[in-house]
This record gives sequence, structure tokens and C-alpha cells, in this order.
Amino acid sequence: MHIPDIIIAIDGYSSTGKSSFARLIASEFSFLYLDSGAMYRGVTLYAMENGFIDDGNNVDTSGLATALRTLDLHFTSTPEGSRTFIGDRCIEKEIRTMEVSSKVSPIAAIPCVREFVDTRLREFGKKKRVVMDGRDIGTTVFPEAELKIFMTADLEVRAQRRAKEMIAKGEPVSMETVMANLRERDYIDSHRETSPLSKAADALVLDNSGMTLQDQMEWIRDVIRERFGEMSD
Ligand code: C5P
Repeated sequence: MHIPDIIIAIDGYSSTGKSSFARLIASEFSFLYLDSGAMYRGVTLYAMENGFIDDGNNVDTSGLATALRTLDLHFTSTPEGSRTFIGDRCIEKEIRTMEVSSKVSPIAAIPCVREFVDTRLREFGKKKRVVMDGRDIGTTVFPEAELKIFMTADLEVRAQRRAKEMIAKGEPVSMETVMANLRERDYIDSHRETSPLSKAADALVLDNSGMTLQDQMEWIRDVIRERFGEMSD
């Protein structure tokens, strides 16, 4: 299937499978895939390692704002997806820990952090053919995106998927811990003042609670055929 040069914005709650879906879309349509959450996770790891956030999640906002001026946080794109770096150091594994997950939402709520990340994300939109997932891609980062999807799924289904993923990566975690973390992140992400998680008015809702990845691909092919009909094969 051929699709035109567009931006696909995928937003939604934590652990709804946005990244897996976006990665598959990118490989099927030869788009660039970017995981915007990785940037927020990267800033969080940096803040943790440099003493800008404490155990109680209190943030030294002005110290962090100053440090962000020189922080070299970036993505490189590989056929398997994007990799996140601080300078030469690949931080892809470190940013996926439960500790980073428990600190990322307070960090992502800080306006100067959002500005830092948005500037970097928008660079990738210039050439189109990008699929990006996050919380505010269709509302703030790329409000002009031609296709916007808002993903949701039952909390229990999401927690099961995330726990399984973490166990597979060698970080055993209980369902209760994961569920509490998802609940907390959803709450902070939806209630922060700057760019809260919300469905763009023109986004299509995809509840994938009972869907496989293949079901979701069929769904998006139908959407694309309907919307860009004559351009797709
Ligand atoms: O997508 P992921 O779960 O890795 O995102 C981690 C966190 O980064 C989210 O819980 C949210 O706090 C923040 N985030 C955000 N805006 C985005 C992407 C992620 O605030 N566009």
C-alpha cells in the first residue's frame, strides 16, 4: 500500500501499545518512527543522574532549565527504530526502568522540559513521512498532522502487557506496581497545565483492548484507504 507524505500522530494513555503499533506502521509504509516518550525519559535519566530530582520527586526546576541549555540529547534512527543518546552514550536500556517510569511524569510536566523536547521533535516533521507517538503529538507538536490516532485500552490489559514486557527484559515487577504507575502517570499526564494528554478534536479513537497488532494494522489500512483512497493501491 502506498500512502502520501503525511505525518501520523499517535497519542494515548500509558502502555496502550502506541510504540509497537507505530513501529509496525513505520516498517509497513517506510516511514520514520519516533518515540517522543524516549526524549522525556532521557531528560528524566539525566535529571536523576545529576541530582535535579530527589527521591520524593521534588525537582530543581531552575537548575534543570540551565542544564538543558547544553544537554546533547538526541535520537538516531535505525531500521529497528530510534535509539536515544546523551552525547555518545546510548541510554535506550536505562530509560526503560521502573525508576525512570516513576519520575518521568513530574519531569514532563515542566514547561521548559516540554519546550526542549518539542524543538527537537519538530525537526523531524519537516520531511513528513513520520509516525510519532506520545501524549501531545496531535494537539501540540504536530497539530497539522494529516492523520491523528488516540489510543486507549483497559487498565488491566495495559498493565498485563507492560508487566510481561518488563519481565521479558529481566526487570521482574508485580502487576500492582505496574498498575499503580500507569494510573499515576495517566493522572499527571492528563492534569498538567502545559500540553496535557487529551484527544485532538480530529483524532480517531482506537481502543485496542481486544485487538492484536495485526487487527490494528488492518484497521489503519482501512482508515488510510478511506481517507487517502486514490493515492493508496
Ligand atoms: O510513551 P512513554 O510511556 O515512554 O512516555 C513516558 C512519559 O513521558 C509519559 O508518561 C509522559 O509523562 C511523558 N510524555 C509526554 N508527552 C509526550 C510523550 C511522553 O508528556 N509526547
